[in-house]
Amino acid sequence: MEFQPVIGLEIHAELKTNTKMFCDCLNNLDEEIPNTNICPICLAHPGTLPTINKKAVQSVLLAGLALGSEILEYSKFDRKNYFYPDLPKGYQISQYDEPLCKGGLLQLFLSNDLNENQKKIQIKRIHLEEDTARLIHSQDKKSTLIDFNRAGVPLMELVTEPVMHTGKEARLFAQGLQLVLRTLDISEADMEKGLMRCEVNISLSENPKEKLGTKVEIKNLNSFRAIEKAIDFEIQRQKDVLEQGEKVIQETRGWDAEKEITYSQRLKEEATEYRYFPEPDLPLLHIYSKDETDGAFDLNELKKQMPEMPWVKQERIKEKYGFVIEEANVFIQDEELLNFFEQTVMAFNDKQIKDKAINLAKNYLVSDLKGLIDAESISWKEIKITPESFAQLILLLLEEKISSRVAKDLLIEIVKNGGKPNQLIKEKGLEQVSGESELKEIVKEIIQDNPAAIADYQKGKINAIKFLVGQAMAKTKGTANPVVLEKLFEEELMN
Ligand code: ADP
Ligand code: MG
Ligand code: ZN
Repeated sequence: MEFQPVIGLEIHAELKTNTKMFCDCLNNLDEEIPNTNICPICLAHPGTLPTINKKAVQSVLLAGLALGSEILEYSKFDRKNYFYPDLPKGYQISQYDEPLCKGGLLQLFLSNDLNENQKKIQIKRIHLEEDTARLIHSQDKKSTLIDFNRAGVPLMELVTEPVMHTGKEARLFAQGLQLVLRTLDISEADMEKGLMRCEVNISLSENPKEKLGTKVEIKNLNSFRAIEKAIDFEIQRQKDVLEQGEKVIQETRGWDAEKEITYSQRLKEEATEYRYFPEPDLPLLHIYSKDETDGAFDLNELKKQMPEMPWVKQERIKEKYGFVIEEANVFIQDEELLNFFEQTVMAFNDKQIKDKAINLAKNYLVSDLKGLIDAESISWKEIKITPESFAQLILLLLEEKISSRVAKDLLIEIVKNGGKPNQLIKEKGLEQVSGESELKEIVKEIIQDNPAAIADYQKGKINAIKFLVGQAMAKTKGTANPVVLEKLFEEELMN
């Protein structure tokens, strides 16, 4: 029997607002002293009243507009009732049947596989709610402390339709969404810090188009890798259960990142009864009106303010700079890298060499400069090389005024200490030497000093030439032109 996996995601993202969702306490998740950003409203004292944070609503509208959702003219907040110590009111203000955004699509765009990138994932809804307090359990498990700094922080929830089929698709969706949220600057969406949290729902059935199978939900996945791994594990587990003629039980499972397995957390009691009802302390929210302008938001204005979306950026840089998809994906995920690159390109004025220069700049930027920044964990703000001096370095290389050895050394030097490549090569005598008469002397010396390599060469070991070139490069501190050297060695050894 063939079973097909079906996956749907529920993703929460902490919104980047100054204040909380329904009070004017600071929304600062980096606050280390517990219970600092609190007030009677977010502590749920009797008699207090919530007020809606406009910036939070606007953030969710931006997400909806970016993803092509339908924005409802009127939206409503509802109470979701349940008891838990991290929820002081005994209910969470959320949205039930009139969320801010309905529907929408996110095309998977971060795959290096172009076919996979065509897939469009349907979104069910995006709504706004408040986060809960944080519980801190003592190590002996005898007591629990509560920190209310997070209580009432605005939280966006996006729910997808059950339309994905592999762990990788779900991971690509989550990574794509993270980039959207960051591009819109509405959430830092960092999974490791819990600023973006992802729950996955998985079921298997013989024919998902006709009937979905029993779903299992996996919680506390705090990395993209965990999303993919947990789903792939769970698909296999459910397959094994079904192939043994047993039934999958509807339950919530956790992910053990060390053992890389899911484990049962709790069985679904009868469908949880949240007794949703409209929040009586908040008005129906008039978002906008199609004919008049008396809503709280002007959607056309919001659309105009939208930054370039990552998939648009991806197409643009593929087209403009001739990037392949893998390259474009590196650049759209690193805004500073792309900015640096685009400013470098602007410094190339000469049309004739522009294409070659762009290509060389891209390679040096991705492998050398980014490599250096990552390896030494320096930030882009700390590096002393400007796009202009980087462009100068690339041009010196293209014009063969310096060797690639010198270019790489000089890059490190300028990243750390600044300076202009044109001046530095003069000061340090690093200009590439291509003159045959000058290099011939060195070639002769190296031949004299390395009889063993010469013997190898004469026995037919062609690679010995590379060794000799290397010796000559070292002797000239990388300034000799290796192509000319190779030619000279060949000529000398022929005779
Ligand atoms: P619930 O009311 O149990 O939260 P929803 O219908 O709101 O269920 O769906 C929650 C998430 O679970 C959505 O992302 C949805 O796509 C997904 N989902 C629903 N049914 C299934 C299923 N049978 N298999 C896989 N995912 C599912
Ligand atoms: Mg749900
Ligand atoms: Zn407060």
